[in-house]
Amino acid sequence: MDDQTRTSRGPHKPVGVSFEFFPPKTAEMETALWEAIERLAPLSPDFVSVTYGAGGSTRERTHSTVARIVRETGIKPAAHLTCVAATSEEIDDVVRAYHEAGVRHIVALRGDPTGGVGAAYEAHPGGYATSTDLVRAIRRIGDFEVSVSAYPERHPESASFDQDLDALKAKIDAGATRAITQFFFENDIYFRYLDRVRKAGINIPILPGLVAVQNFKQTAGFAKKTGASVPQWLADRFEGLDNDPATRRLIAAAVAAEQALDLMDHGIENFHFYTMNRADLVFATCHLLGVRAKAGVSA
Ligand code: FAD
Repeated sequence: MDDQTRTSRGPHKPVGVSFEFFPPKTAEMETALWEAIERLAPLSPDFVSVTYGAGGSTRERTHSTVARIVRETGIKPAAHLTCVAATSEEIDDVVRAYHEAGVRHIVALRGDPTGGVGAAYEAHPGGYATSTDLVRAIRRIGDFEVSVSAYPERHPESASFDQDLDALKAKIDAGATRAITQFFFENDIYFRYLDRVRKAGINIPILPGLVAVQNFKQTAGFAKKTGASVPQWLADRFEGLDNDPATRRLIAAAVAAEQALDLMDHGIENFHFYTMNRADLVFATCHLLGVRAKAGVSA
């Protein structure tokens, strides 16, 4: 059992984890973010990623958060970047600035329409029209690892699963080497998607994106916008708990544990957590997956 680790469910291969954060808006949020990073860093994530606000609204904050991760931690950061509201020259400058700051991994996205989710997407006249163009540009500029999005339930703008897979293939042909999924709650949705992806000849890692439900109403609202389905059983579990945050937290931990352990039992070895900048639930879920803090590793 040399290459295996024992979890509550018996022996499993050691799993790899990555964590996603969003750039803080206020000093208070910044403190909370760094507390989360400090708590999760000893788990030696493969990388931590920092999102890019809708419409490019967090360009500076994303950069300064990622740059601080490079300066102050031993963790490899990944900077999210979208094509929205910027010329290709501006975006190329952002990419070069990341390279200068020591960043070597970008999560390349098209981004949502400036009119909000549901509005028609219009590329910036002087900008990159698609995420595929962005991936190609990043690879041209420097020695970056490029991750992209994947949608187990299809992107809301996709006409079909085939079109969705074609879009993923185009991003890989342009140089993407990893995909991270939109969050999902039914693991079967992810397994069916993986089957489709592999049958289409796509072999890059497709990391399952897992969201820790801290606030069910908020997560359900977010899911609606992104095309992720929220099963009735999940709504039932949080029913009547609007004014009971302590019980909500326990339920959330049970939901996250159930989902992650089931994925692991099905042989999944890499997990991406949408942390919402909070560590506790994610830390506990990682612990259940057999991930342990390494002595001497800190943020
Ligand atoms: P793409 O992969 O380029 O396209 C998604 C799908 O839309 C494709 O499958 C394609 O079939 C379809 N499609 C695209 N264009 C068209 C078209 N013109 N006609 C028909 N179909 C089309 N957003 C942010 O603003 N900041 C972030 O940091 C961020 N991080 C994300 C991280 C992950 C892991 C994921 C899954 C999403 C993230 N998003 C983020 C959201 C993302 O920007 C939106 O979902 C956006 O609408 C699509 O961008 P994309 O790169 O995922 O799209």
